[in-house]
Amino acid sequence: MESHLFCHRCGAELTPGEGNFYVVRIEAFADPTPPKISQEDLEDIDINAEIEKIIEQARGMSQAELMDQVYRKMTIYLCARCYADWIENPAG
Ligand SMILES: [Zn+2]
Repeated sequence: MESHLFCHRCGAELTPGEGNFYVVRIEAFADPTPPKISQEDLEDIDINAEIEKIIEQARGMSQAELMDQVYRKMTIYLCARCYADWIENPAG
């Protein structure tokens, strides 16, 4: 079974071994810095109510959806021409 690769942008068929495409690995995660909490915040806060709120928000979301919010990883393939365009403006 031969596997076919296609350019993620233009759909051109890519031929492994011919060096005419790029593999782009994307890893994205939410800001990993813990929130700054002052001593006063801690005294003010009702921990049980906060936990209730988070559980309430999480209810109805699947495990995968929760993971997607903090971390995503994907691999895309780009033909040489699309790569040349994309790498100049990857966030565009
Ligand atoms: Zn392409």
